[in-house]
Amino acid sequence: MKITDIKTAQAGGFFIRVFTDEGLTGTGEAVHGGTGCANIIKGMKSMFIGEDPLDIDRLFEKARRARIFDGALAGNFVTALTGIEIALWDLAGKALNVPVYRLLGGKFRDRIRLYADCGRINKERAGKVLSMGFNAVKIDIDDAGDPNKLDHWNWSITPGELQRMVDQVASAREAIGSKVDLAVDMHGRYDTHSGVKVACALEPYNLMWLEEPVPPENVDAMLQVKQSTRTPICTGENLYLRYGFRDLLEKQAVDIIMPDIPKCGGLSEGRKIANMAEIYYIPLAPHNVSGPLGTIASCHVCASIPNFLVLEWHRLGDPNWEKIAITRSLATSATEPLIQEGYIVLPDGPGLGIELNEDFLRQLTNGAQLFD
Ligand code: MG
Repeated sequence: MKITDIKTAQAGGFFIRVFTDEGLTGTGEAVHGGTGCANIIKGMKSMFIGEDPLDIDRLFEKARRARIFDGALAGNFVTALTGIEIALWDLAGKALNVPVYRLLGGKFRDRIRLYADCGRINKERAGKVLSMGFNAVKIDIDDAGDPNKLDHWNWSITPGELQRMVDQVASAREAIGSKVDLAVDMHGRYDTHSGVKVACALEPYNLMWLEEPVPPENVDAMLQVKQSTRTPICTGENLYLRYGFRDLLEKQAVDIIMPDIPKCGGLSEGRKIANMAEIYYIPLAPHNVSGPLGTIASCHVCASIPNFLVLEWHRLGDPNWEKIAITRSLATSATEPLIQEGYIVLPDGPGLGIELNEDFLRQLTNGAQLFD
């Protein structure tokens, strides 16, 4: 079997499809890519055509090394390659008639635990999330519009802003109760002493983690925050490849890492990052803002590693999310929701076990051809 073409589609997400001379195809999703990634893929697909699609790691490394001078160390280039990589895994699973997790070494678990990213939360929203069965939620506490802030650019926290954050976390904790996991995101928008203040002030609320109290580029600053507090610290959604996580892990600068698998390198790379973290006893809580296809791709990695904690789900209240794709042979039927009681049951169909709902996606593009 040889690769004959790679095409992309932008409709309800960014999708990548690999075509072969045997008629078999594989489909992947990449996030934060869009037009930039589509152009990158157009520019490099000749490197894949004629190749054996089952040599996934070799093809990834071939393209990455060939484009190092064009920026393939991180960013959009890696994300474009990630989309191809995930499509290749789907294709490989279909070619060998096994689910992708089998090719990643098998599964540690059948269901993947999700946390609901809520942004802001109140009693009503908390009630809804808990009634859906979630046992973990995340809220945001950075607020560019907070009148207590010094100005738009300064990253130092004021006493008023700190108090507003503590009040917000206290009311979230009260709304969800003591037995539900609570993560809190600061989006890397504070300086080191401010990060320390917040992390220490939130210690009474038993957080699952405090996310990016400082920006992720300076590992030593992250380590300083971690060492100052009992609140677990988490980062990683904007890091790429194993190399992006090396310093963070070697210095044990965080308690939890959160690679975005459909962005940072794909399934092989996600698993390698998880394995690196495992030897430091650091769990993985992948960042995820993908549609169902990218989410299921992440689930195959989450199933295949021991140190999985929880996977993000970012589409609370989005009625289209479930319509974008159809699972092939879940334990549940296709008409049942993908997410049940806060978990995704790992699909056991060949490949990723999920297909795009192309009729629905064509509605989003007024009937235009999806892949070109
Ligand atoms: Mg975040």
